Amino acid sequence: MHTIACQDVSGIECSFVAKGETMEAAMGQLKEHGMGMHQEELAKMMADGMSEEQMMEKMKAVAKEEM
Ligand SMILES: [Zn+2]
Repeated sequence: MHTIACQDVSGIECSFVAKGETMEAAMGQLKEHGMGMHQEELAKMMADGMSEEQMMEKMKAVAKEEM
């Protein structure tokens, strides 16, 4: 089980943790959450020069694997 905490990626005070059988599934879930819940913050990060690739890299960097 892969888990990615929203807060670790976004720096936003948020308790959402995406979970998935694969890294891709967890990332997809977090992306969906971000687009639903943090539209403004995401837009701001993009405006500050954060690319989608960088976002993905950050997700991978903070992802945890749990049994
Ligand atoms: Zn969140």
